[in-house]
Amino acid sequence: MQKLKDNHINSTDNLTFKDFNFQEQLQEGISAMGFEQPTPVQEQAIPSILEGKDVIACAQTGTGKTAAYLLPTLNDLVKNRNENISTLIIVPTRELAVQIDQQLEGFSYFTSISSITIYGGSDGATFDRQKSALKKGTNIIVATPGKLMSHLNLGYVNLDNLRHFILDEADRMLDMGFFDDIMRISSYLPKKKQTLLFSATMPPKIRQLAKNIQEEPLEINIAVSKTAKGILQAAFVLFDDQKLPLLEHLLKAKKVGSLIVFCARKVTVKEISKALDKLDYDIAAIHSDLDQSEREDIMRRFRNKQLQVLVATDILSRGIDVDGIELVINYDVPNDAEDYVHRVGRTARADKKGAAFTFIGPKEQRSFGQIETLIGEEITKAKLPEHMGETPTYNPNNGRNGKSRNKGRNGRKGRRKS
Ligand code: AMP
Repeated sequence: MQKLKDNHINSTDNLTFKDFNFQEQLQEGISAMGFEQPTPVQEQAIPSILEGKDVIACAQTGTGKTAAYLLPTLNDLVKNRNENISTLIIVPTRELAVQIDQQLEGFSYFTSISSITIYGGSDGATFDRQKSALKKGTNIIVATPGKLMSHLNLGYVNLDNLRHFILDEADRMLDMGFFDDIMRISSYLPKKKQTLLFSATMPPKIRQLAKNIQEEPLEINIAVSKTAKGILQAAFVLFDDQKLPLLEHLLKAKKVGSLIVFCARKVTVKEISKALDKLDYDIAAIHSDLDQSEREDIMRRFRNKQLQVLVATDILSRGIDVDGIELVINYDVPNDAEDYVHRVGRTARADKKGAAFTFIGPKEQRSFGQIETLIGEEITKAKLPEHMGETPTYNPNNGRNGKSRNKGRNGRKGRRKS
């Protein structure tokens, strides 16, 4: 693989989108969307994709990765106008598919390019609708792997003229067990095409996937370990039984317009959304027990600001773009340090301001230390209000995660003043 260069998420020079010389109708869409200057991943990826190269990019959500692959591929479609399925975008979740489709609609508004989304929906009506749209023909498909395979198996999707194959959030797809589906989808595609692989992380299995489906890709690395600027980050070191009272306190102390609370487990999501119900907020919980339409309905209300508080498992931490989230609360420290970057990335998107607070229970101190190492900064430790009592001392190097000595209920032993 060719290695381009490491680049920090916030660095840009004075390049504008006009410098890419996109087709006029596309440039109109870009301007109408209010995009003026490319982000680093766009700056690096767009010229190579325009040249037709395969690209593997390590970039988290919030860096502008979607436009980085959409704009040059749309430009190619405007230039080489035809009725074929020309671009296939595979994504892990329906939420991400919907979000990409929204950006697509904006960018292609002044062109005659058509797109459809293919995901979820086990009912026959949805499937039939997708089937007839696929048969009728479209230029771009945005799909989740399993659902696309169901259609491909039935034989009416003609991908012989595909020009671009794009995998977005590839690491998440592999985590979700889609490797075989991706390889099977790939077997339906023509040999000569451009393959673009976007992933928030670059573990060995992603490199293996790239080896299987790409040809001498250019590698772009937008430091995944950096959180976007503009996010005020703080953490509370506390006992587990102080988490809920602190959350209630924070919500009462300052009225927040739009807030996500992330929890590691769905039982916690259910518990806290129930406990918060008594507060003066419109709250909803989102987790894997809900079906697609319930999840979409909640997301729609949250986007429209009808819901103020969303309590969620990690289902939401990657790939979801909601404007104007003011605060992210990590009720638990994420197990995977990179999930912290994703969760916190829900706020302060594209240079807006936001805040992220993390609750660090006694068993989670070591994990949080690893996060601080990954992001290369020490997060300010905020004090709990006096009336909540004493708190543990922060010592991320002490003991192994979850195995600290002398710990009692809720991780408490003899209490110390922080
Ligand atoms: P993404 O990382 O693709 O999910 O993009 C995050 C958000 O940033 C989306 O709301 C995009 O519309 C927005 N965005 C991406 N690139 C730009 C840009 N160059 N200028 C302004 N907003 C952008």
